[in-house]
Amino acid sequence: MAAGSAPPIDVDPLEQSIRRRVVLATIAILLMIAAHIVGPLVRTEGSKAVDLLTEFGSAITALFLLLLGTPKILRALRERREDAAIAHAERMQVNHLFRMTELLQSANGYGDANAVLGSTIDSLLQGFGGALYVFNNSRDRLELSATWNWPETDTLRPMLMPSQCWALKRGKAHLNADTQGALRCDHHIGAATVLELPMTAHGEIRGMLKIGTALPDAAAQLARIQPIATAIADAMSLAISNIALRETLRTQALRDPLTGLYNRRYMEDALTRLSALAERTGTPLSAIMIDLDHFKKLNDAFGHAVGDTVLREAAAQIVGALRVSDVACRYGGEELLVILPECSLTEAKTKAEVLRERIEALSSVQGATISASLGVASLPENTRTIADLLPMADAAMYQAKEAGRNRVVAAPAQESPMLPLAAE
Ligand code: GH3
Ligand code: MG
Ligand code: MG
Repeated sequence: MAAGSAPPIDVDPLEQSIRRRVVLATIAILLMIAAHIVGPLVRTEGSKAVDLLTEFGSAITALFLLLLGTPKILRALRERREDAAIAHAERMQVNHLFRMTELLQSANGYGDANAVLGSTIDSLLQGFGGALYVFNNSRDRLELSATWNWPETDTLRPMLMPSQCWALKRGKAHLNADTQGALRCDHHIGAATVLELPMTAHGEIRGMLKIGTALPDAAAQLARIQPIATAIADAMSLAISNIALRETLRTQALRDPLTGLYNRRYMEDALTRLSALAERTGTPLSAIMIDLDHFKKLNDAFGHAVGDTVLREAAAQIVGALRVSDVACRYGGEELLVILPECSLTEAKTKAEVLRERIEALSSVQGATISASLGVASLPENTRTIADLLPMADAAMYQAKEAGRNRVVAAPAQESPMLPLAAE
């Protein structure tokens, strides 16, 4: 190519074909007209047959071009329109995903992130329902964080264990279908076919996104939207990871600014110290996990500011009932934890009941129903392994929730509690 000359322009084969057919049809029509005009002037007896033949041939050619060529062109044009529509839909999906990612970066907490995810699923996955599970603060189970358009025929568990879920165990997408011979997760209930996507960011599983539908060809429909659902799950897991990171940075300080209680990081250090001391002195050590009941509803009904006040008041009530040597901390959101050195299981249960009553008494002050569910566990009565103490208190607290809330539940006692403690 000569320097400075324009690059070759791609020739469109469809346009070329249309042009060729128009030229040929024009020639055929011109020939027909010529046969009409010139024929009578030069007509001899013998040329009549030639005229007829020319006219007939031209007409056939024009007809051939029209009848055989047009459907092919129309089909090509239709395919082109369909391709353009698909390309447009894909462009819109990418735009939605970009917008979702951008909005998630400004999300201030899980509530914001869930709202963004909900609106994205609404616009990108019409006809499908979504549910988001995220790990709880102790990272031993996943809690239902949000749902969108979930099929009414199907039930969602409020929480699930990672060991019950194939998507979480394998770290890969898993389809729970209600068909014969299908491998279903233990937590799967209901008849809807559900695609489960583990949400991983920075090498850690952050939660799980469930996409479900009650459509008759559910498996095929879910396979069709799997790429876009995966992209949504990836964007959301990064956001969850960032929110968790921000939360961690907030807890770098010693105390929680809202409640004035120690933060989780301090508590973890204190627990290591206090458990070592308990082991050395052969004294018991107890933990009480406290979770305020229906706190989301309270926020929704009275506003976040009232929710904050209730949290602050509940913290004050707890601190007011403890010894100076006890450690009370804000474990996460509306979850508080108390570590009680030199306190047996029986004493801790009595103390937990006092805390429950004090929190319940806030109802009359605030004009709202306020209560908490409490789980108690002790070393060495429930476990000799320090690492098991908080998960046991947490599990007892969940039992208190399941039993109807506003109550104290103690972890089950183990058989030979008097063996020495084992520091982990
Ligand atoms: P449950 O009885 O099962 O514990 O129900 P719940 O609504 O308390 O539990 P869930 O874990 O679904 O909701 C916790 C709520 O606590 C959601 C969140 O908005 C609220 N929350 C967490 N931290 C704060 C806070 O600092 N201030 C306020 N006002 N609300 C908070
Ligand atoms: Mg909670
Ligand atoms: Mg709660």
